[in-house]
Amino acid sequence: MPSKNRRAFIKQGLMGATGAGMAAHSLRSVNTSESRSASAEKNTGKILYRTLGKTGIRIPVVGMGTGDTDNQHLVKAALDRGIVLYATSRYYGNGRNEEMMGKVLNGRSRDSYLIATSVMPSGIDHQQGLYTAESDPAKFRGEMEESLKHMGLDYVDIFFLPFAARRESVFYEPLMRVMEDVKKEGKTRFIGIATHNFEPEAIRAAADTGIYDLVMTAYNFKHHQREAIDDALDYAVGKGLGTIAMKTMAGIYWDKERTRPINARAALKWVIRNKNIHATVPGITTFDQMESNYSIMDDPALTDEEEKSLVPPQELPVSRSYCRRCRACSGQCPERVDIPTLMRSYMYAYAYRNLAHARQTLFHAGDGRLPCLECKTCKVKCAAGLDIRDRLLDIRRLKDIPEDLLV
Ligand code: SF4
Ligand code: SF4
Repeated sequence: MPSKNRRAFIKQGLMGATGAGMAAHSLRSVNTSESRSASAEKNTGKILYRTLGKTGIRIPVVGMGTGDTDNQHLVKAALDRGIVLYATSRYYGNGRNEEMMGKVLNGRSRDSYLIATSVMPSGIDHQQGLYTAESDPAKFRGEMEESLKHMGLDYVDIFFLPFAARRESVFYEPLMRVMEDVKKEGKTRFIGIATHNFEPEAIRAAADTGIYDLVMTAYNFKHHQREAIDDALDYAVGKGLGTIAMKTMAGIYWDKERTRPINARAALKWVIRNKNIHATVPGITTFDQMESNYSIMDDPALTDEEEKSLVPPQELPVSRSYCRRCRACSGQCPERVDIPTLMRSYMYAYAYRNLAHARQTLFHAGDGRLPCLECKTCKVKCAAGLDIRDRLLDIRRLKDIPEDLLV
């Protein structure tokens, strides 16, 4: 197994290659009758608190997604700074991110943080947005219990069912039963769905099940369905659900070469502006980012200048921009290639520089098979004009890199 330095070197080298050619108090319920939106918000002047719907938990609106870092010191600094909500997943690094969180949380007062995690069901059809018969509920449940062991916790605060998408997936009985059971057994205080595909449908369905406390959704100023998500959030909040936004940074850079950074403060302020978003879990990889995110709560209003900074640069050629995740390409490929998921992998590699996550997502889109190699001309028309074949062949190169070199 390579040493840490060697792994870092390999990772850096891969990044170079990628860029060149191929190129993340006290928290017990305070008032369960506290209701939605503006009434659930209290700005102390330094920290913006919101209440996570019917859970009654009031926390700072800025949390942290831990999937893009393995730096324990960074998470410790975030805890010391006052960030309360942390979203990890068993999926991140095949459990390594949870293990890292377990080490950091060890010895901390259990009332001083909220930890959310999720476990990937074994069968997911991303293209259809459905769980398949391979989603073995016993395995799903067993892995949730493994998560607790790896973090050294008796319970998590929030357990999410990830990749909920179509209404049928949210109502998928075998997994719903597991979600209810783990809550009844005290393995998690609250349950929710996490969605970054067919989000409006998933959010409404979660509210309709009557079993979920929370939804976590992809949400940012670039999202092609932001108005439909706004309506769905309004519906869910009206039914008492707490809401958490992920993917708030919208890819970090406008361009693939990383020369045009997105105004991260403006992007996060844009999300927080929606009072139906009760908390956020932006991915954080540096101490400066952590400090910048936290300080937003001091002055969360989006200035005119910041708002202007969120308008896409006109001069950016299509070849340098990212997939809009509009799903217009879905179902177009005769070989049934899952293009939107592979484009997500591409974004993890180029924008987030998280090659391990990009590689996992690549395999998640299929078995690593990519018929584009044999396809002379791509039959898919991208709504944004992207050269799909070129990008898929580009990202496919991660397949041949052993996973342990990317950790
Ligand atoms: S059509 Fe293009 S922009 Fe839309 S999801 Fe597909 S690849 Fe992305
Ligand atoms: S090149 Fe286009 S049409 Fe051919 S397999 Fe790939 S995505 Fe499908």
